[in-house]
Amino acid sequence: MSEKIVEVRNLTKQYGKQKALDDVTFSIKKGSIVGLIGPNGAGKTTIMKTLGGLVYPTSGEIEMYGATDEKGLNHARTRMSFMIEAPYEKEKMTARENLEKQRLQKGIPDKKRIDEVLKQVNLENTGKKIVKNFSLGMRQRLGLANALLAKPELLILDEPINGLDPEGIVEIRELFRRLNKEENITLVISSHILSELSLLCTDYVFINNGKIKGVFTEDELKAECSEYIQINTDNNEKASAILIDKIGIEKMDVTKESGIRIYEKLDEIRYISKTLYENGIIPVEIAKNEVSLEDYYMKMVSGV
Ligand code: ATP
Repeated sequence: MSEKIVEVRNLTKQYGKQKALDDVTFSIKKGSIVGLIGPNGAGKTTIMKTLGGLVYPTSGEIEMYGATDEKGLNHARTRMSFMIEAPYEKEKMTARENLEKQRLQKGIPDKKRIDEVLKQVNLENTGKKIVKNFSLGMRQRLGLANALLAKPELLILDEPINGLDPEGIVEIRELFRRLNKEENITLVISSHILSELSLLCTDYVFINNGKIKGVFTEDELKAECSEYIQINTDNNEKASAILIDKIGIEKMDVTKESGIRIYEKLDEIRYISKTLYENGIIPVEIAKNEVSLEDYYMKMVSGV
């Protein structure tokens, strides 16, 4: 079991009448890449801001590196970096000049650190190009370089993929992977598009309307998005009874909207069809299907 470096317990945040977070509980394991997934207004930024100490929770508790009191949390936060608001850079300066300014502001004595972070984010060859002429992907990477200056163990990134083109998405995913594997940095990344993060994260936290809708490991999510047999008949109620009694099906969902879904005996469609038919049920539809990640996401966040 990996060490838990952050635990969020029963966190609630009220902005006037607006409940932005409602009893939020989850944890972050050392070495993981956590995807915080939810639609606009779900509460992702608020969670990140409370982790960063930029917003005080109304109730609940945050534990970071073993600390829960304000002094301990502030010390723990020196081990983390955040990219929460859109990265602010001086438009008329180069990447190096921007980072140099940040280095001095943050009181980091090591001048060589600029070269290291520029290399980490693949911006080492941008030379005299000023930020005004950077692509969105380059800007995001510069924001990351800034967050990396102080050698964080934990990086919290709010929607870093938002607005990037497909090439930019691949590039930044690779970068996250590298930071995680080679620099041993734990990452928490928010997104409103599950598929942007689905090839990357080791853990997923789904949130909507300030509430946690599900917490999964990568493997658990894969299992949830597994194959199934879709069946619709002239009498789904009777058909499901037959599937249980005659075939011994246990893993099955039956809903008015989707009909019958069987998650086992996936290679026995012919036998299932024949058994239903022999028992007086006419299958109108019987086929193998897969729950797409986006279907699953919609189900998760809408709570259907
Ligand atoms: P987005 O992707 O749109 O940024 P989000 O998941 O990050 O969404 P939050 O920004 O955390 O969501 O907002 C959660 C809820 O809290 C929203 O309803 C938002 O309007 C509200 N909210 C956030 N900040 C404030 C604030 N300072 N004052 C009042 N309400 C706020």
